[in-house]
Amino acid sequence: MTEQANLHTVSTMASVDAEAIAATGSAKVNLLGMPEAKLVAFFESMGEKKFRAIQVMKWIHQLGADNFDDMTNVSKDLRAKLKLCAEIRPPEVVKQLDSADGTRKFLIRVSGNNVVETVFIPEGDRGTLCVSSQVGCSLDCSFCATGKQGFNRDLTAAEIIGQVWIAAKSFGQLQANGPRTVTNVVMMGMGEPLLNFDNVVDSMNIMMHDNCYGISKRRVTLSTSGVVPQLDRLSQYTDACLAISLHAPNDELRNELVPINRKYPIAMLLDSAKRYIQAMPDTHRKITIEYTLIDQVNDRPHHAHELAELLRDVPVKINLIPFNPFNLSNYKRVSNNALRKFQDILMEAGYITTVRTTRGDDIDAACGQLAGTVNDVTKRSERYRAQFGEEQAVKIIG
Ligand code: SAH
Ligand code: SF4
Repeated sequence: MTEQANLHTVSTMASVDAEAIAATGSAKVNLLGMPEAKLVAFFESMGEKKFRAIQVMKWIHQLGADNFDDMTNVSKDLRAKLKLCAEIRPPEVVKQLDSADGTRKFLIRVSGNNVVETVFIPEGDRGTLCVSSQVGCSLDCSFCATGKQGFNRDLTAAEIIGQVWIAAKSFGQLQANGPRTVTNVVMMGMGEPLLNFDNVVDSMNIMMHDNCYGISKRRVTLSTSGVVPQLDRLSQYTDACLAISLHAPNDELRNELVPINRKYPIAMLLDSAKRYIQAMPDTHRKITIEYTLIDQVNDRPHHAHELAELLRDVPVKINLIPFNPFNLSNYKRVSNNALRKFQDILMEAGYITTVRTTRGDDIDAACGQLAGTVNDVTKRSERYRAQFGEEQAVKIIG
């Protein structure tokens, strides 16, 4: 039975008979990706009280336990019962790469022998973890290496929160009085988080839960290229921060760079984003606008003026991202002059405008380089091989 199917079974079963499950030889339920409500339901279905679920939740996410025997305040009987039908199974770390600037990249194997990447970026007293939500991505933005691989599959909630568990554990955070190294999470790794809605929402809820990582809602950010119907639902499930990958000030240009714009154009997207922050209980929320600057494509002063005009009535801060070149892309990085000028125009128009610096250069950890060794199950790899030859194609699709 797959993990998804198994979870479904658990949530619909009136009671869990641990020995019966063990006897059938079906896959154990992975508790790692269960937010509080699901974990409590699982324990109750075993005839156990809610507080037992909370104890186990703390062991997993605050103390890094992946073994029921470590859970010394849980009775031996319950531990034995849990061992029969449940497990705490993080994805496997294939490789950990440490950059000279403190950036740490993990190559993480998820089921089906796929590899995704997770990047930790330290900056002063903040430590930001960039988390992946899918293997590949179906949206095929023209400047994104992940998009070039095509879509393979959604990550499970255990595989998403597992990235946080692995990174926090690697810094010794998951122990009593451990350092709080991972302070922020951005869903800006591989994949489009809103196309894996349920698992992403469950994982973000675990990140923010006081009995887990306790990261504040102002420090967890979901980034989307604009899947409007899902964005319209988001405020019912989370109050995390929102980033919109805009990259262009008008529909004509955005249609080329971010193809999903043809379905959900800019005005529709910005309206939906505004509704999201208006639904938040706290006021003064701002939407982060991500704008990847590509030489001669979207980096001209007239683009900056048009952007300033477009965002006039939207509460935003703007993050400029110099394009990171990769093989098989003809785009070039914005020049330093054009970048400065673009930023100046936006600042003069009154926008808080920051520039994302490239980090972890020596370990290929920059945005859009999270391509690595992911298996490509689509026809794109064949197309690239035919078009560019084996050597070039391998560089990008692994
Ligand atoms: N799918 C989501 C989240 C993952 S992409 C989204 O698109 O928002 C995260 C960010 O990395 C996006 O803003 C994306 O535009 C940016 N990015 C992708 N490829 C890049 C590249 N080659 N250079 C710079 N930024 C890139
Ligand atoms: Fe997918 Fe985001 Fe890359 Fe677009 S930028 S292809 S939505 S991961």
